[in-house]
Amino acid sequence: MLLKHSISLILLSIIMLSCILFTIEVDKYLTDKQLNKIVDRNSRDFSVQVKKLHDEIYVVLAQLIPPVRCDAELFENLIYQYKHIKNIGVIKDDVITCDVYQGKLLETKVNDYHSFTYEDGETYKYWMRDEYMTIANPHGYFVEYDMNYYLDFIASAELSGFSIFGRQTLKQWFDFDRHKIDQKDKEKLNALMANKFEQLNKDDSRSKIEYLSDDVVFHLVKTDKGSVVASYTHKDYIPSWQVVRLSHIVSALLFGFILSFAILYRFYRGRTLKQLLVSAIKSKDIYMAYQPLVDLNNGNYQVIGFEALVRWQLKNGDHIRPDIFIPLAEESGLTKKLTACIIELIFKDLHPILLKNPALYVGINITPTDLHDMHLVDQLHDNIKKYHLSPSQVVVELTERVITSPQAQDSIKALQRAGIRISIDDFGTGASNVKYLAELDPDVIKIDRSFVVWSDGEGPTSQLLGKLIEMCKEFEVKIVVEGIETIEQANRCEKLGADVGQGYYWYKPVKVSELNLPKTEDKP
Ligand code: C2E
Ligand code: CA
Ligand code: CA
Repeated sequence: MLLKHSISLILLSIIMLSCILFTIEVDKYLTDKQLNKIVDRNSRDFSVQVKKLHDEIYVVLAQLIPPVRCDAELFENLIYQYKHIKNIGVIKDDVITCDVYQGKLLETKVNDYHSFTYEDGETYKYWMRDEYMTIANPHGYFVEYDMNYYLDFIASAELSGFSIFGRQTLKQWFDFDRHKIDQKDKEKLNALMANKFEQLNKDDSRSKIEYLSDDVVFHLVKTDKGSVVASYTHKDYIPSWQVVRLSHIVSALLFGFILSFAILYRFYRGRTLKQLLVSAIKSKDIYMAYQPLVDLNNGNYQVIGFEALVRWQLKNGDHIRPDIFIPLAEESGLTKKLTACIIELIFKDLHPILLKNPALYVGINITPTDLHDMHLVDQLHDNIKKYHLSPSQVVVELTERVITSPQAQDSIKALQRAGIRISIDDFGTGASNVKYLAELDPDVIKIDRSFVVWSDGEGPTSQLLGKLIEMCKEFEVKIVVEGIETIEQANRCEKLGADVGQGYYWYKPVKVSELNLPKTEDKP
């Protein structure tokens, strides 16, 4: 039993642990998936904005056509019209010759520029000045725009940083970190750029590459034919409510599943035992054993009756004890069926003996619910009539618990009216009180086995058996003492004045076929 429990406990722990590990994995998977989704959305939104900006720049550059001149009015109009453009001017032989502000930029020589061929087939130049990105068209006009503006107003707050790369040159145009990331993640990002960028640049069918490290989600998204936006998001900067919701639902579902499984499992087990009992009643795996009771008055221990004790043998040969399955039958509402089966068996088994020996009786044990209606009274009455027995040959054994239940009173009265005898079982263990003894007027009192055991010892409890017998004598009842196992106990009970003895010293409960009664019993 202990081993079985330990194995179930270990199994349960393994299941729980697996569930926890599984939940953690699912949680991580879903969190990563969710993170990716957020970063993807942010990157895409951002790259759409960058594309818009680029489109705007090329629209402006397309309007700046030869003859090349320093047309301040045109420049100002364009800047007014396209809010992202900060400056427009002319560059000749790599030297800025004119711009809107006509200030410090004039006569500046641009050394650090890159060239690329745009989709119109023309060669453009670009360079950075602080946060300003500048692109010049083949005619020598340039436009400047402010990258910071983009970051502050367009990039989502969760975006940790981004870089913009020219697709043809593979050069980084602009780089911005809002949230610092680990050096190792920075290295991963660089490696990602190096490995994937060219592929992304060449392969027109792929528009997105994503990569997940422990802390950071990277994305490379093409904006248009000219550039690639590499953005990344640090997991710490994504609000947790956006990420964990889905995984929590899964955890909750999993937990709920385990809980309901446990509840169902318990219910199912409970049902199984109940169903077993139902089929045991049907298939007659239930049988009766009879323990003879002997007369202590004449010194010859003559058998004067039997106690009927129910037995349940499982298919595998094991027995289930009645003090286990009788309460189970009560809990499961099977008492009526079980008692009906027991009474049928008792009369079938014992009627030949009882008919032959009218002085013999059978004690039948009863549970509280048996007395809630007149069913039992009717059944006993019918059987007594059917087998032509005397009602006094039937003794109903009731515990004090049964007697004190208010619903039982009518049934008990009806039993007595029918001439069936009443016995108080396990006397001395319940709320024994003299008042109900007087009211009930029982025919038999069975003193519980524990008093016999105590009578073996010394001290005050050893006196209880004698005191109980003495008390019972006042009610003119037949006094039975249960559980007598030794000759000393038998002698003691005899001496104390008990009328009837029951116990292993004389007989153990046996099947009717094994009842080996002395010849004297056969005499009427
Ligand atoms: P109980 O009514 O007190 O029955 C007496 C119990 O004491 C029986 O146990 C019997 O086998 C056992 N017994 C008899 N002599 C001795 C002895 O010398 N020493 C010891 N140690 N035990 C002895 P059993 O058959 O296991 O029944 C246990 C209980 O289950 C019964 O206690 C009774 O409350 C209940 N029960 C048994 N059969 C039925 C039945 O047909 N219907 C109902 N409702 N309850 C039953
Ligand atoms: Ca009994
Ligand atoms: Ca008893």
